[in-house]
Amino acid sequence: MANRIPRVPVREQDPKVRATNFEEVCYGYNKEEALLEASRCLNCKNPRCMTACPVGLQIPRFIAELAQGNIAGAAAVIAEDSSLPAVCGRVCPQETQCEGSCVLGVKGEPVAIGKLERFVADATLGKAAAEVAPANGIKVAVVGSGPAGLACASDLAKWGYDVTIFEALHKAGGVLEYGIPEFRLPKDKVLKHEIEEVRKLSVKIETDVIVGRTVTIDSLMDQEGFKAVFIGSGAGLPKFMNIPGENFNGVFSANEFLTRNNLMKAWREDYLTPIHAGKKVCVVGGGNVAMDAARTALRLGAEVHIVYRRTEAELPARKEEVHHAIEEGIIFDMLTNPVEVIGDERGWVKALKCVKMELGEPDESGRRSPVPVEGSEFEIPTETVIMALGTSPNPLISKTTKGLEVNRRGCLVATEEGATTRPGVFAGGDAVTGAATVILAMGAGRTAAKAIDAYLKQN
Ligand code: FAD
Ligand code: SF4
Repeated sequence: MANRIPRVPVREQDPKVRATNFEEVCYGYNKEEALLEASRCLNCKNPRCMTACPVGLQIPRFIAELAQGNIAGAAAVIAEDSSLPAVCGRVCPQETQCEGSCVLGVKGEPVAIGKLERFVADATLGKAAAEVAPANGIKVAVVGSGPAGLACASDLAKWGYDVTIFEALHKAGGVLEYGIPEFRLPKDKVLKHEIEEVRKLSVKIETDVIVGRTVTIDSLMDQEGFKAVFIGSGAGLPKFMNIPGENFNGVFSANEFLTRNNLMKAWREDYLTPIHAGKKVCVVGGGNVAMDAARTALRLGAEVHIVYRRTEAELPARKEEVHHAIEEGIIFDMLTNPVEVIGDERGWVKALKCVKMELGEPDESGRRSPVPVEGSEFEIPTETVIMALGTSPNPLISKTTKGLEVNRRGCLVATEEGATTRPGVFAGGDAVTGAATVILAMGAGRTAAKAIDAYLKQN
């Protein structure tokens, strides 16, 4: 019986070794391991895994091809629904999506869907040959080259549209390039190739163009002949705690810290853009971004503390990320909340003043709210403080575009299909939902592509 085979474990770099390098943590499956794991799938008639995938990837179909040894066939099935499988196979929260719903997980271990997707994508990287309809000459602009923008642009280009992506930074990829660290998502080995696939569909990517400054959505539509626009500009504006001392040198937002490491390669000796992390770093927050910032600072040689106001049970980060962080030696200071950053006479951080917390009554989210313990103030000596408290969309685009509404969280108002309050302008991904996930952003980009196609056929 296929389901009697235990889930095939995946090989990883030794925690002590990987804590000192930026090489990928997980090695993934080899062919033999992937085929064995694929043979565990029951090819369910009503596949719950597929319903739980935000882009409806045809999971049992691709796994069945793989189990037969037909890797190219498996890749073709995946390509019908996903333009970034090597990325998604690595960073999707499978435990709460496809794998969380796999029937084998009820009594045992679910099929390792993410690792199988990654194997197929890696084995066929750069070999995809998507079908593209004849060019129709209709121009569509896409703002932002993150997963939402790339997915929207890919679909529109496959249907014959003349698509240009405008990206503010000097490299395409959005958070995949500047946020998620190299040790979870290798840039040259993986991301570069998946972006190349998008370019192969004749999508033009113009980098160093800030929409709202270099050009505006109004100028693109009124003067440059773009018939529709998709906004996939993400949620890159960091939040701070608004406590005293946050302006001292050595306080970073997680966004800045990660961007300087990933996009500007601060960790590489051959780059002239280093970063000073110091001997001790405190990361404030408990989400995935906090784990990424902490594990990056560790690899730069620091002793790293995660400072979080609730307990381990409430950590919002993926279990796998917390497990990896603990294995690598990150220290977790739980039930601890910063109240002040203390600086020295030269204006550099020297300590983080905190209070101890205890859990009180549940709040509206159902989680018990942390309350300060009176008289429990103490200082953690540190050279660097990284605030990983969440992000919201940058208001630049909504402020410079006529007729675009935002909600009270600063997110663009859009229908489920992605139509904003301005005709011809569509939006999706973090710019609409606030910080979410890669696959949800991709799904939103694809849904909006369909809506743009329908809009352009009517107008
Ligand atoms: P983004 O990826 O943010 O892309 C938006 C792009 O638009 C950027 O390139 C930006 O430069 C560009 N842009 C913004 N404004 C303008 C403008 N005015 N003009 C031109 N271009 C502009 N999700 C997961 O599923 N798994 C993970 O493991 C995971 N880890 C994460 C780790 C970190 C550190 C962060 C920050 C996020 C993580 N996420 C993860 C969340 C995920 O990356 C995002 O939800 C996803 O990238 C959102 O995609 P997007 O296309 O909407 O926006
Ligand atoms: Fe295979 Fe699990 Fe999906 Fe069933 S639910 S088709 S066993 S991956």
